[in-house]
Amino acid sequence: MKEPEPIDPAGGMSGTVRPYDHLPYARPLAQPEDIASVISVLKSEWWTTGPVLRRFEKEMSKFCHCAEAVAVSSGTAALHCAYHAIGIGPGDEVIVPAMTFSATANAVVLCGGTPVFADVDADTLLIDPVSIETKITPRTRAIVGVDYAGQPCDYDALAAIATEYRLSLVSDACHSLGGSYHGRVVGSLADVTVFSFHAVKAVAAGEGGMVVTNRTDWAEKIRKFRNHGILTDPHQRSKTGTWEYDLPEIGFNYRLTDIQAALALSQLKKLGKSISRKHAIAGFYDTQFAPQTGIGRLQIRTDVTHAHHLYVVRIKGKGEDSRDRVFHRLRHMGIGVNVHYKPVHLLSFYRNRYGCKEGDCPHAEAAYRQILSLPLHPGMTDADAERVVQSVRKTIHES
Ligand SMILES: *Cc1c(COP(=O)(O)O)cnc(C)c1O
Repeated sequence: MKEPEPIDPAGGMSGTVRPYDHLPYARPLAQPEDIASVISVLKSEWWTTGPVLRRFEKEMSKFCHCAEAVAVSSGTAALHCAYHAIGIGPGDEVIVPAMTFSATANAVVLCGGTPVFADVDADTLLIDPVSIETKITPRTRAIVGVDYAGQPCDYDALAAIATEYRLSLVSDACHSLGGSYHGRVVGSLADVTVFSFHAVKAVAAGEGGMVVTNRTDWAEKIRKFRNHGILTDPHQRSKTGTWEYDLPEIGFNYRLTDIQAALALSQLKKLGKSISRKHAIAGFYDTQFAPQTGIGRLQIRTDVTHAHHLYVVRIKGKGEDSRDRVFHRLRHMGIGVNVHYKPVHLLSFYRNRYGCKEGDCPHAEAAYRQILSLPLHPGMTDADAERVVQSVRKTIHES
């Protein structure tokens, strides 16, 4: 593998490079140009929802080949805004995969709608179109594809279902910014796509999110929704010299600051480089683990570009708790493994309010007992990756 340029874990401020003794599954990385970008906003007089945010939105709409991009305060806010734009409300059902972060379903509940969980494909852990069709009712309004780990869903199959049943297609692309499907970039594959800029995501702003779409009417609705329901924002009003505003409907404060937008904008420029480094590490893991018994990998289709947000393996040891044992041993060895995710329908809120239960989504449940996310981030050295492989081998052998 080609080594990355040496990176100061303290973000270029301490002047010392420290090896990691604890290797997390993901970590944010502020390089000098990121810090300079944030400082330039702090030195300006406009800290929130101003010119830098608008530049970031423009770059994202170009990047995603979409007419509209609206920045918001988190990926969860972006999901809430997307469902609001579609018009999800009481009585409406939205089909989401069981294998995702809970926010994908939570935002449906925030709109007053009902999330309905579809199972995932056993090999890719992406939402299974066959399972979707069994969950459609006259109340279904939308389906949500989650590009789990960074691999885009089968959007041709999802779009065919959406067209047949006249549903909106949402892409939760919080893992897959920079990926593509059949040569089309993520962001251009659904009616509306959402991204997160949380600290562990590929483009990190601490917190942040974005909705992209070609629907101008939806984008307008979201711009109001992120700003209490007010159509004009303070920056526009300051330019036109008026205090006057009207509130035609109710909304939230889901605004992203220019400080965060400056950080995200700077990180977006390096996204290609960051993905190729993660691609190299993932490729190294692949070749190292291919001959290893007791460890399985997710299937990656040949017609996609993977964004490598997570590197997920399946621990196939004897005994119900072999993944848990491997998890604890690796954590003890300073390897920051994690589990993404406990299927959402098994969380108390969904069990209690909607009667979800074990057995509803068998593929997601079976995967949950085996999956483990290994460290994967662009600041890792070849030696870090080698250490992960050796530690995993050792623990698998001992389990
Ligand atoms: C991170 C994430 C979200 C939520 O994004 P936040 O910015 O943390 O609110 C939603 N869905 C998926 C799949 C995610 O990974």
